[in-house]
Amino acid sequence: MICRVCDSTRLEPTLDLGLQPWCNHFLKPEEVGTEPVYPLRLVFCHQCATTQLDYTVKKEVMFGDHTYLSGVTKSLSGHFKGVADEVDRRLGDRGRTKTVLDIGSNDGTQLKHFQAVGYDVLGVESSKTTAAIATDAGVPTVNAFFNLETARQIGRKFDAINAAGVFFHLEELHSVTDAIRECLEPDGLFCVQFLYMKRIVENLAFDQIYHEHLLYYNLQNIEALLNRHGLAMYDCYLAPIHGGSIIGFVGHQGAKAPTDRLRQMRAAEDAAKSNEIGTYHEFAKRVARMKEENLAFLADRKKQGKRIFGMGAPVKGNTMLNYFGVGKQYLDCLVEKNTLRKGLYSPGMHLPVLIESELPAPPDVYYVLAWNFKNEILSNNQHLIDRGVEFFFPVDPDKVAA
Ligand SMILES: [Zn+2]
Repeated sequence: MICRVCDSTRLEPTLDLGLQPWCNHFLKPEEVGTEPVYPLRLVFCHQCATTQLDYTVKKEVMFGDHTYLSGVTKSLSGHFKGVADEVDRRLGDRGRTKTVLDIGSNDGTQLKHFQAVGYDVLGVESSKTTAAIATDAGVPTVNAFFNLETARQIGRKFDAINAAGVFFHLEELHSVTDAIRECLEPDGLFCVQFLYMKRIVENLAFDQIYHEHLLYYNLQNIEALLNRHGLAMYDCYLAPIHGGSIIGFVGHQGAKAPTDRLRQMRAAEDAAKSNEIGTYHEFAKRVARMKEENLAFLADRKKQGKRIFGMGAPVKGNTMLNYFGVGKQYLDCLVEKNTLRKGLYSPGMHLPVLIESELPAPPDVYYVLAWNFKNEILSNNQHLIDRGVEFFFPVDPDKVAA
């Protein structure tokens, strides 16, 4: 295997999460027990410091028909509005209708916020079901994988390009990055959003590691990747979304000088040794300790005769459940808002997914898999907390200083 970013062969294994099913595919009753498993293991590149998976599940398996909808949660929608407003402010007045391309546009939630401020929008989304939802909602969407070939079919340039999260899905990393350069106006703005590996390590948010996320970025390696394709980041900030994501602003190479804020964040990364192998070996040890602590907590509550439900059926929750081995011996079910997952079972642990509004009664304990929506969950469930229902957060980003 060679590094997906720099082609080096100097790769060293760090965290091994064992054999896991593809965690995005919740199972129909007849599929339970038939799901294939694949290695889920991190390797660190000594050349460019990119942490990545050493096994690739084919993208057609992974993104053919996923059921994740970005419009379902309120706090994500608020984030998307903020991004549209900020991109618009940065582009300023162009004396004509501005254009935006969203890569991995999902159900069109992000683009609706651009439409609201007058943009001519286009989405590219690989999931057929999700692309159809967006099109029906009035958001023009191409159902395809974004790469150089798709870019040439689209055949136009955009003032803004947005890519949230897709950058770690990408099997065709170099083709996609080239395609972004081709589709970006000379003075255009590419807004790249990705989970910040520095924060994943600090939060012990190892559940963010799954087959869909082939690559894990710090500033050092994403900047190297962008530079390799004629693009350069000139500003960025850390947003709380998904426990800590970078919102980066990128232009053609040489278009803009890096801001002081970007320089400071690069320096903080160096100070935290975020691009050194030792950090990732230590991370693996901390994750193993976390497993022991979580199992001890769940066993204790079961011993007290308490009923425990999982809160949320997020894709990342399956990494945690499967690595910890948390199944029906601890949890009765997973409770979810997204009705597309109704009646399905979690891959690996085979926990049934129930819809929150249809629950006959709450449990004694919620084991919160959707921990990244902590504030929203706590405020929506204040009436349960008042009645003594315990909410346990296996990952708690509030415990880590920003
Ligand atoms: Zn590398």
